[in-house]
Amino acid sequence: MAPIESADLVVVGAGFFGLTIAERAANTLGLRVAVVERRNHIGGNAWSEIDPDSGVEVHRYGSHLFHCSSDEVWAYLNKFTTFTDYRHFVYTAHKGQIYAMPINLGTICSYFGRSFTPGEAVALIERQIAESRIGNPDNLEEKAISLIGRPLYEAFIQGYTKKQWQTDPRELPPEIITRLPVRFNFNARYFSDKYEGLPTDGYGQLFVTMARSANIDVALGVDYFSIRHRIPAGTPIVYTGAVDRFFDYRFGALGWRTLDFERQVLNIPDYQGCAVLNYPDDDVAFTRIHEFRHLHPERKYGDKTIIFREYSRFAGREDEPYYPINTASDRQRYDLYRAAADGESNVLFGGRLGTYRYLDMHQAIGAALSAWKNNIEPYFKSAAPLKRSSN
Ligand code: FAD
Ligand code: UDP
Repeated sequence: MAPIESADLVVVGAGFFGLTIAERAANTLGLRVAVVERRNHIGGNAWSEIDPDSGVEVHRYGSHLFHCSSDEVWAYLNKFTTFTDYRHFVYTAHKGQIYAMPINLGTICSYFGRSFTPGEAVALIERQIAESRIGNPDNLEEKAISLIGRPLYEAFIQGYTKKQWQTDPRELPPEIITRLPVRFNFNARYFSDKYEGLPTDGYGQLFVTMARSANIDVALGVDYFSIRHRIPAGTPIVYTGAVDRFFDYRFGALGWRTLDFERQVLNIPDYQGCAVLNYPDDDVAFTRIHEFRHLHPERKYGDKTIIFREYSRFAGREDEPYYPINTASDRQRYDLYRAAADGESNVLFGGRLGTYRYLDMHQAIGAALSAWKNNIEPYFKSAAPLKRSSN
């Protein structure tokens, strides 16, 4: 056990980034690690648990689909869990019809109401792109239209993006939309990574296994800012909380979106037939519905199901920050925070909140493994300075 006062390393935040560092430190170098977590559970936003009313395992912060192409990250996680062969498919409900998402040949045929060969579909979309006369796209709307043409953009992207970001798509960066592929074949899979699946016994169990070490002490329900005075000067700290909060918002607050989940247990075995159904239309307030039982078709669940309707809005200081908005002024502000973070010699900033970046789980784990290898392990093994993670 490593109380804060006598730990070799203090980790703030028990999400994927923090727990990866804690696990490496405890199990490879035998360091005594104190993990401080504000919430009453470990695992950060990827935490999952069995819902007592339905018996279904829910992802408390929305469906988390694991996918990656990194052999290193995959091998690392497989030390703690096996994975199911779950493959993610998403559907989208537009004007009373259901279509496959991301946009693929099936979506195009259904939407335009006739059959297209791949070549005919390419020709149709190219014609629509040409009609839109967009030169060099410099915002999300122009980028999307330059990829799929205006009709598909208006049906499936415009309304969803407005609801999700509460910002005009013409004011959003084009990169957001390039996360979604467009395919001129019938491949409707959401991800195209080398590895995909869900932890067989759930994320919750995976985190418990990662944190299981006599050298790791996790304090739940403890905010770092209420105990930082107890940490002896010079103790190395890995901080995965919000970077602007660390510096008491001295350069202003960074912009985030938060989510509200409306939970409903239903006395039916299946509500929507898939794990995630998107709602792009303006007249529906939520962006999507998660039905968690579909994440584990291999399990025998009972006759009840549980769904979460997901609503998106700007985060105030008291809200959980989920998605960095990353406007130009956010970027400028973050540059100031990053310079301040560089000046903290015994604090390494990491993870989604600590580096103000949208990170998928595999990216958070990959960044933590790099920070371990390049910064923290050399600090303990050869007294190298603990620099800020450049990941
Ligand atoms: P977090 O998981 O946020 O962990 C940070 C922890 O630090 C939190 O537990 C927080 O409570 C704690 N903390 C903060 N401040 C303090 C403090 N002052 N004191 C103590 N503790 C503190 N990724 C995928 O790969 N696939 C998906 O399908 C996917 N879906 C997502 C859906 C949603 C709705 C969201 C929001 C994210 C999704 N992600 C997905 C991303 C995934 O959640 C992140 O990659 C992952 O959570 C990052 O881990 P992290 O450790 O950086 O941050
Ligand atoms: N998007 C959309 N319609 C959809 C799904 C996604 O317009 O049905 C857009 C939206 O702007 C979103 C982006 O594509 O922010 C990235 O989608 P992704 O599913 O990766 O978002 P996440 O699950 O991370 O919220």
